Amino acid sequence: MNYSKVDLHTHTNLSDGAFTPCELIELAYKNGIQALSITDHDSINAYDEIFECANDYKIELIPGVEISTDLEDKEIHLLGLFINLESDELKKYLNFFREERFHRAKRIINKLKNLGISISIDEVLDNSQNSAIGRPHIAYTMIEKGYVKNYQEAFERYLGDYSPAYERKIHVSVQSALKLISEAGGLSFVAHPGYMKENILQKLIEYGIDGIEVVHPSHNENQIQFYRGIVNQYCLLETGGSDFHGGKKMDFENLGKYFINYNQLSAIKNMIHKK
Ligand code: AMP
Ligand code: ZN
Ligand code: FE
Ligand code: FE
Repeated sequence: MNYSKVDLHTHTNLSDGAFTPCELIELAYKNGIQALSITDHDSINAYDEIFECANDYKIELIPGVEISTDLEDKEIHLLGLFINLESDELKKYLNFFREERFHRAKRIINKLKNLGISISIDEVLDNSQNSAIGRPHIAYTMIEKGYVKNYQEAFERYLGDYSPAYERKIHVSVQSALKLISEAGGLSFVAHPGYMKENILQKLIEYGIDGIEVVHPSHNENQIQFYRGIVNQYCLLETGGSDFHGGKKMDFENLGKYFINYNQLSAIKNMIHKK
């Protein structure tokens, strides 16, 4: 049996994480992780210049992405693993989504302006490294300019779901995201299902997800056993990871603590080969 640590859910500063892809790899190495997937929100830019770094630390990299989708007006996150980073369809979708996020950020900034908070799109872009711009980047800008004391206040008073400056993201259906992942040669997993109702998970299984993220910091032991049972019952794949972001999320202890083992990664790889 091979029990090496495999973490298939992490974020870098190219979405809403704190560390650069290379810094994350170094941290993963220091925490005993042997295989890693960087699954930034709607972005694969982390993979642009990272393979050398992964090689230096002898970390096996699994190409991945976390895609935000919609099902019955609820936001569902899907992890696409072993995706082909050169897929034109995938690149086209991610570019489109990035542009949509940019326009949404401008709408949020406008709403903030009407609430007496003056920040510019350029200031927000400085915080987002020009990638998948989101509410966290706006929150950081608000902190920097002294409009709020901390991240939590930014969300509670202004940016949180249905708060005064909230704007929805565009709707991407689960089905279209599943198709995208599959056509890019990847496998799709429901991310952190702990928060969703059972009938939603049932629908996702009917739509053809390949697996479930069983191990996640938000799941307690009962949930882990429950999702593992579902994985077995429906012959799905199990994945897991830390959902590490670093920085202001204060989740440092999660890296190296939430993982699957290499045998489970091998099971995922076997399915790729059968596709
Ligand atoms: P976005 O993709 O722009 O809608 O931003 C979503 C991200 O904002 C999430 O991944 C969280 O990191 C963060 N977020 C959303 N709601 C809250 C909240 N109430 N408190 C803190 N962070 C939040
Ligand atoms: Zn995130
Ligand atoms: Fe997520
Ligand atoms: Fe995540």
